[in-house]
Amino acid sequence: MMLDNKLLDGHLAAGAMPLTQSALKLALDPRSKPSREEAEEAVRTLLRWAGDDSAREGLIDTPARVVRAYEEFFSGYEMDPKDILERTFEEVSGYDEMVVLTGIRFESHCEHHMLPIIGKAHVAYLPNFRVLGISKLARVVEAYAKRLQIQEKMTAQIADAIDSALKPQGVAVVLEATHQCMTTRGVQKPGVAMVTSRFTGAFREDSRTRREFLSIVHAPSTSGHGI
Ligand SMILES: [Zn+2]
Repeated sequence: MMLDNKLLDGHLAAGAMPLTQSALKLALDPRSKPSREEAEEAVRTLLRWAGDDSAREGLIDTPARVVRAYEEFFSGYEMDPKDILERTFEEVSGYDEMVVLTGIRFESHCEHHMLPIIGKAHVAYLPNFRVLGISKLARVVEAYAKRLQIQEKMTAQIADAIDSALKPQGVAVVLEATHQCMTTRGVQKPGVAMVTSRFTGAFREDSRTRREFLSIVHAPSTSGHGI
């Protein structure tokens, strides 16, 4: 909910229901972080909205659990992909072939419904001067996945972060994912996977390089089928 100053003044002037402290904080700074108690209270509100009794025994600890789960789901806001990619390794032995990491499982949440997006990322780059520790690619995927996302944006963010940190000859990122907002509500299309990709440099310009990457991604042992 957005409250601009005019609306806020209107509320106060009209003597309408006073704003709660958290609503006031939100009105003054939409990015301000609520306290844990405020977050738990919001979960209680949603439980009641769903039609249940937030005070019944089975739900008593639910708000605290949900808030802890959120800390995990959205831990990416605390991760800086630039930091993760900062330490790159000089290429020591003249390796100039593609580096590919396939089937990086990720769990994200769509920013439209806050429902899970579950899938796999396939990431590659063609080194120029430097190479990365292999775990870094997976950690960059994680840093962007553990946020509210749309798949297209996440694909671009991963590619751009690697591109600007490593300055390689090119980066390729393919994400395949199922969106629970599609499979469990609305149009309800189970089993539909969305595929997004971003290619830069050599992967964009040279179809042979791109094909080589895609053939690795689609090899039977690494394909994303069954996500
Ligand atoms: Zn959604």
